[in-house]
Amino acid sequence: MKYYSTNKKANLASLQEAVVKGLAPDKGLYMPETINKLPKEFFEHIEELSFQEIAFEVAKAWFGDDVEHTELKKIVYDTLAFDVPAVKVEDNIYSLELFHGPTLAFKDVGARFMARLLQYFIKKENKEQTVNVLVATSGDTGSAVANGFLDVDGIHVYVLYPKGKVSNIQESQFTTLGHNITAIEVDGVFDDCQAMVKNAFMDTELNEHMKLTSANSINVARFLPQAFYYFYAYAQMKKQGIDNDIVMCVPSGNFGNICAGIFGWVSGLPIKRFIAANNANDIFFKYLQNGKYEPKASIQTIANAMDVGNPSNFARIYDLFEGSHQRISSLISGATYTDEQIAQTMKKCYADTKYILDPHGACGYQALKEQLQPNEVGVFLETAHPAKFKEKVDAIIGEDITIPERLQAFMRGTKQSIKMSNRFEEFKEYLMKL
Ligand SMILES: *Cc1c(COP(=O)(O)O)cnc(C)c1O
Repeated sequence: MKYYSTNKKANLASLQEAVVKGLAPDKGLYMPETINKLPKEFFEHIEELSFQEIAFEVAKAWFGDDVEHTELKKIVYDTLAFDVPAVKVEDNIYSLELFHGPTLAFKDVGARFMARLLQYFIKKENKEQTVNVLVATSGDTGSAVANGFLDVDGIHVYVLYPKGKVSNIQESQFTTLGHNITAIEVDGVFDDCQAMVKNAFMDTELNEHMKLTSANSINVARFLPQAFYYFYAYAQMKKQGIDNDIVMCVPSGNFGNICAGIFGWVSGLPIKRFIAANNANDIFFKYLQNGKYEPKASIQTIANAMDVGNPSNFARIYDLFEGSHQRISSLISGATYTDEQIAQTMKKCYADTKYILDPHGACGYQALKEQLQPNEVGVFLETAHPAKFKEKVDAIIGEDITIPERLQAFMRGTKQSIKMSNRFEEFKEYLMKL
């Protein structure tokens, strides 16, 4: 299958090219030319299949022409070696817990899949040269990418993060790993880190010296695999006799996660409609209301992984529906919440049901509470474990929530980082010496 750019000014790319390049040369996002549908029989028996079996069927339909099936199966099975249970929170509302992976958030899925797919393509090329992945992070992306790529041979990862601006829990998840993961602590802000990475990709001398690639969330290998758990969510609902009028509600920032779900829907997944739940960053919400897409500077909120003022995957959704506001707004509805509303939701949900929401999932839960019709069943994506935001969650619900052992283990590790100024020249000098 070939991939085209949403800007329509770049050549068609193979999956391999799209994965290695990340962004298309015309700065557009890659889109699959066709989205193969899953057969009807697949959905008739989907509830009898495991998460891995379901994902492998979807992966074959989408990537099966470009990756040998035995290898694809290994990649899928290795990526999804944890459960994604749909937990009943109350009548008609389920939480799809995407936080049982290595760093306790949904980005683990895309990061690991991309790492293994990149490794597959590197092996096929049979070159000795190490591929260097550069990633700038404000917290969560760095941990997912670092853990996804850990010990994947042929690849070295450099995580650039702003000193003193990520939480201790987040920092421990990418600074304590060692092996093929190097953390670079930048004396600056997230935008500096991102600029350093962008400059590195554009620097001719550096690119002749070493092979560089990005693990940005716009990469097709990171965003498409997120569709797998939407199919599994449907299977879990169907197993309970619910296979109609299912609404999926997705806490959204860059819109990669919901975009993957929509690709699932295009390939036949029987979801009735979607809700995109935003924090105070309401650009998409506004677009749904008035048809105008007006990016803004991002606003800081307690659901900070969704603090995005110009969601990159909007371009994919827009392209998929040929720019039709009518089609987009009839499939997806929106919601937006202030920090006070998010906190209120977390408190009330805990008091009523004992279920502990994280600030991101809280947006999804609340949107279902407000918008679900009596005949519908809602599934919201709980995108991170509440303990990842322990300080905030404890303060809001008035409890001392337990930190899962996996997270505690990171926090016991020894922090190792390379300290650096926010000057690109210093970063380049460092890389040129490798
Ligand atoms: C990244 C992230 C989101 C937003 O996902 P998008 O794909 O960017 O819309 C939501 N919640 C958490 C916990 C995240 O880490």
